Amino acid sequence: MAELNPFKIAQQQLDEAAKYLGLDAATHEFLRWPMREYRFTLPVKMDNGQTKVFTAYRVQYNNARGPTKGGLRWHPDETVDTVRALAAWMTWKCAVVDIPLGGGKGGVTCNPKEMTETEKERLARAYIRAVNSELGVHRDVPAPDVYTTPQIMAWMMDEFETIRGESHPGVITGKPIAIGGSQGRGDATARGGVYCVREAAKKLGLDAATSSYAIQGFGNAGQFAATLHREILGGGRLIAVSDSRGGVCSRDGMDPAAIVRHKLETGSVQNFPNTQPISNEDLLEIDVDVLYPAALEGVITEKNAGNIKAKLICELANGPTTPAADQILHENGNLVLPDFLANAGGVTVSYFEQVQNTYNYYWSLADVHAQLDRRMTEAFDAVYKTREQAAVHMRLAAYLVAVTRVAEACKLRGWV
Ligand code: NAD
Repeated sequence: MAELNPFKIAQQQLDEAAKYLGLDAATHEFLRWPMREYRFTLPVKMDNGQTKVFTAYRVQYNNARGPTKGGLRWHPDETVDTVRALAAWMTWKCAVVDIPLGGGKGGVTCNPKEMTETEKERLARAYIRAVNSELGVHRDVPAPDVYTTPQIMAWMMDEFETIRGESHPGVITGKPIAIGGSQGRGDATARGGVYCVREAAKKLGLDAATSSYAIQGFGNAGQFAATLHREILGGGRLIAVSDSRGGVCSRDGMDPAAIVRHKLETGSVQNFPNTQPISNEDLLEIDVDVLYPAALEGVITEKNAGNIKAKLICELANGPTTPAADQILHENGNLVLPDFLANAGGVTVSYFEQVQNTYNYYWSLADVHAQLDRRMTEAFDAVYKTREQAAVHMRLAAYLVAVTRVAEACKLRGWV
């Protein structure tokens, strides 16, 4: 499985759900493929005066439930298949949290770490010039993803509005607040995951306020999870954290805000006072109540799944658990909150941003949190109920909920 490309994995996950649901052949085949995909060749002037040619993509996977929605990745390893897979997962993610949007994704094969701000701005504007006729609040709405930022979203919105000669703030989300971004977007992914942990703890009879937790990956998702776990659950002991350079642990617990400061000041979690070093591999197997994988894909495999002690695994990262590991965790009684449920808080607040842009009326932070809490709690309940009824693992249960909703929309439209 590991050597398969991500789109093949996404198709196989769908196949399993389709089989379980007894989906008819036409609906199944329709949902295995993107409805539309675009490939662009973008010539961009670099600061040295030379032109560099970039390959870019936009995949609109399925719009049966509403306009397609999904981030833009700028990454050297971007291929059409990574974009297709992520677009498929966006389709299931929007459906599982029941927001009226389809799934899409975009990407540019590039290395932003080697580009200046002015080069990034020219690439952002070139991308919008190529794709603008396919975008819009009623068609397809991009957002930030790996290596794209609120500033890049601002340039893109400006280019779109310049082409159209009109205001269109809802054409893209994840914008800075000063130009139509939403309150609460920054920590939305981790916040949505912690709301799911709170609900799952109730089901497991776990005392959330005294729960111990560990976090692999200490970027946007991981850092917010560190502080929000305690804030939302009313307590908790942070036992271990790691980043790409390695991890630290302390059985007595660490102050989440202090280790976030340490990471921001030193660039790493290493050498945080009163801790011992721990490897990224050992962190996954540490004895804690809740484990948050918040870094990379494919870290929980059939090799280490049997050693994982956490009762709850909240997948803030995309794809941290392989299909074989899922089955082992299920059999051993570890409850997995699967990625497209656990990290759906980000797209949910992006949807709120789109709604606010359309009404030209902006919500308070408290309103955003209350609405996000409701959506995540309902999504968790729907998936958990399906897991109980169908006696399947949580990821398959999430697929069953999402695919049922998308298939119903396709049928109602008369497509299949
Ligand atoms: P980020 O780039 O801000 O942080 C990633 C972190 O992972 C960094 O601390 C990095 O040091 C660490 N890391 C990298 N390699 C590692 C390794 N080998 N072992 C341990 N740690 C390692 O990224 P992010 O936005 O926090 O995203 C993390 C994951 O969450 C990704 O899978 C992403 O797709 C997913 N996600 C993020 C969001 C969001 O809104 N930020 C939304 C949905 C999903």
